[in-house]
Amino acid sequence: MELSHRITGLTGGGGDGWGLFYKARAMIEAGEPVVELTIGEHDIRTDPVILAAMDASARAGNTGYAEVPGNARLRKTVAARIQARTGVPTGPRNILITPGGQAALFAAHAAVCDAGDRALYCDPYYATYPGTIRGVGAVPVAIPTRPRDAFQPTRQALGARAEGARSLLINTPNNPTGVVYSRETLDAIADTCRDADLWLISDEVYDTQVWEGRHLSPRALPGMAERTLVIGSMSKSHAMTGSRIGWIAGPPEVIDHLITLATHTTYGVPGYIQDAAAFALEQGEELERRVGEPFRRRRDLARAILARQNTLGLVPAGGAMYLMLDVRPTGMTGEAFADALLEREHIAVMPGESFGRAAAGHVRVAMTIDDDTFADALSRLVRFAQDNAHAA
Ligand code: PLP
Repeated sequence: MELSHRITGLTGGGGDGWGLFYKARAMIEAGEPVVELTIGEHDIRTDPVILAAMDASARAGNTGYAEVPGNARLRKTVAARIQARTGVPTGPRNILITPGGQAALFAAHAAVCDAGDRALYCDPYYATYPGTIRGVGAVPVAIPTRPRDAFQPTRQALGARAEGARSLLINTPNNPTGVVYSRETLDAIADTCRDADLWLISDEVYDTQVWEGRHLSPRALPGMAERTLVIGSMSKSHAMTGSRIGWIAGPPEVIDHLITLATHTTYGVPGYIQDAAAFALEQGEELERRVGEPFRRRRDLARAILARQNTLGLVPAGGAMYLMLDVRPTGMTGEAFADALLEREHIAVMPGESFGRAAAGHVRVAMTIDDDTFADALSRLVRFAQDNAHAA
């Protein structure tokens, strides 16, 4: 029996880019000590006060079908949070609650792309992006970025591919680079979307992890609210990755169609998870600051360690849980560097090549282990690079 091309072609014929991660996992299962700096998940778990709210809600009977768009309390809370942070008038009708940011990314593309439409995204990219676009039958088109622009898309690169495309997907703060897009970049993105009549899908799941200044949402730029779908999530901001809860914020007429899509796909998010999310958001920014703080601290530790050497380059690390290191001075590709580092030092980092072509010659370091182990691993990584640069 034949399967659909849509499902068999989801990864575009390539691997999923996670070969190194699987290799590290196999080593760990075989009992070898490996320092894992691969995955974007906190080293803390969901705060017990959030779990208590989840438990209370479930025990109060919220275990039946929940309202498909999301319950009134959560939609209102998410809308109020967005309005307070962006100044853009936002109400519950602008919000669809989804089972995580990934489901939101899929639904957003389904809402704006027809089969065969060109959907733009920036390279390097979060691993699921091209597959998500293919999953709705659209054609993924990468906008290349360059290390010398801190991997931010330029006006020229955007303009060269915008004509005739349907949507543009961006992500700031960025996974995998840790870069926060500048106002200039966001203006270029907004101009491109308006000029070429593109939908903007703005993945803001790291919006609470910005180390200088505040997050700027492109939905707040002139003329953008009517053409922007913002992807939000509780995964990163509140260490709730396993609870699978996020949202889409956009124009009410788009949200209405997305509710119909949700009725035919996810049928909503469990009510007790929604209540826990509403409770967590009602706690305000202090809880978010506590969840993000370890990454800021480790970013500072890393900057201090890297300032004492001149072999590896650090891509300006403005937010999220990652550092992107330029390993080209060693003469190795990101893949060769990550592989050798795993073999010889038992430290697992992701090759830049796993996230597209633009980050070749780089490695992504997830700052998701305790400070001392992190600082020690990074120092060993630097020594490894220096030794190999000397040998090269
Ligand atoms: N977008 C980006 C950039 C991510 O890094 C992730 C997860 O790592 C997601 C979306 C999906 O997050 P979730 O589905 O857990 O909300």
